[in-house]
Amino acid sequence: MSASVQTLLKLSDRCVLCGLCLPHCPTYRHYGCEIDSPRGRITLIQSLLREEIPLTADALQPLQRCLLCTSCEAFCPSQVEYSRLLLLAKERLQPTPPPRRPLLISLLLASRSRPWLTHHLLTLYRHSGVATVVGQSSALSAQFRHYARRLQRRLRTSPRPSSDRSLSPPPQILLLKGCLGEAFDCTTLNDATTLLRHLGYRVLFLKEESCCGTIHRHQGDIQQAEALQQALAQQIEQQEADTVLYSVGGCSHQYQNLPTSRSVSELVTFLAHHFRERELRGMPPLSPLPYTIALHQPCSSRNQLHNTDDLRYLLQLIPQLKVELLPSNNFCCGAAGTHMVSDPQSAAAYRQPHLEAIATIAPDIVVTPNLGCALHLEQALAPGIELLHPVSLLCRALTIGNDP
Ligand code: SF4
Ligand code: SF4
Repeated sequence: MSASVQTLLKLSDRCVLCGLCLPHCPTYRHYGCEIDSPRGRITLIQSLLREEIPLTADALQPLQRCLLCTSCEAFCPSQVEYSRLLLLAKERLQPTPPPRRPLLISLLLASRSRPWLTHHLLTLYRHSGVATVVGQSSALSAQFRHYARRLQRRLRTSPRPSSDRSLSPPPQILLLKGCLGEAFDCTTLNDATTLLRHLGYRVLFLKEESCCGTIHRHQGDIQQAEALQQALAQQIEQQEADTVLYSVGGCSHQYQNLPTSRSVSELVTFLAHHFRERELRGMPPLSPLPYTIALHQPCSSRNQLHNTDDLRYLLQLIPQLKVELLPSNNFCCGAAGTHMVSDPQSAAAYRQPHLEAIATIAPDIVVTPNLGCALHLEQALAPGIELLHPVSLLCRALTIGNDP
């Protein structure tokens, strides 16, 4: 038995099969089968590693269906490192021939080391008619049209470094764009830049930012994920910024484990820390925003970044803003990295309780700090409801009547 198999079996042996994680697992609730629960998957991994069942693409399906929301880890009394186990197992257990991937995921994987390719490949995909050929599923076609609209909208703007010389010498922040952030969410990046500049920072960007490797990691290509992480860390080391921030919460595992000497922080967490300090010294004026917002707290905030308190703290600073938590917040919305692309039907089913909760609240704005969730939720939102990253709301409240 190889060392890697032994390591995996050791990780899996921590599971005492108690089943306490099961009620918190969205795939178990959705499919209603043990094999689609954390415990079932751990048992499956053990059987595959011990070669008790043949290694086929079908046998691996339950592992592919896992959303990697890590809710099971949050409720596991034995502290099973489920996500580590699953990803290492995905890397180790490769069927022959390899399973076919949706074209969009293949394009994203191919362009990971040169993020600008994301723009060009997606634009080519949109204009070439390939979407019609490949999008046999009407759900996938609708999904792609939604992404294309966002891409088109965002391409009109691009994040620029702040240039206000009156602030010099300000502390410097390197704001990571993220491959998909740069393609689909320039609004958040622009608003984050404006907000940070108001707070006295100089904001820098990497010219050609390397991918962090999150999608590769989720696909089980740990080696490539680590190589990309290393490349990004080298780019960061060449910059003079004191602090590195990122807004794409879904990539937090890769960002938080970057091999860099710089301080790396997620944007919401950083801003909450900043504003708490300012509260002691006198806050900058925030204008009232008389909206009702439905606050989505994604898995990345609940289970990885543990910053849901920070999120609520920041929003309650805005006068007259009414914040309603989605009662569905305890479960993944189905975006789940590439899941919304690889299995749009089940992704839509996971989203449904969130849409119903939003309809009950009838908000002006839905707020979520996770770009993947934003793309997924926005696609099915009722007309007239805006969807924003929390930093955009803060930016509005801080900049109304206070233009720099
Ligand atoms: S990561 Fe989420 S979807 Fe996967 S087994 Fe755990 S709770 Fe279920
Ligand atoms: S809660 Fe932990 S120990 Fe119990 S079945 Fe789930 S993974 Fe295994």
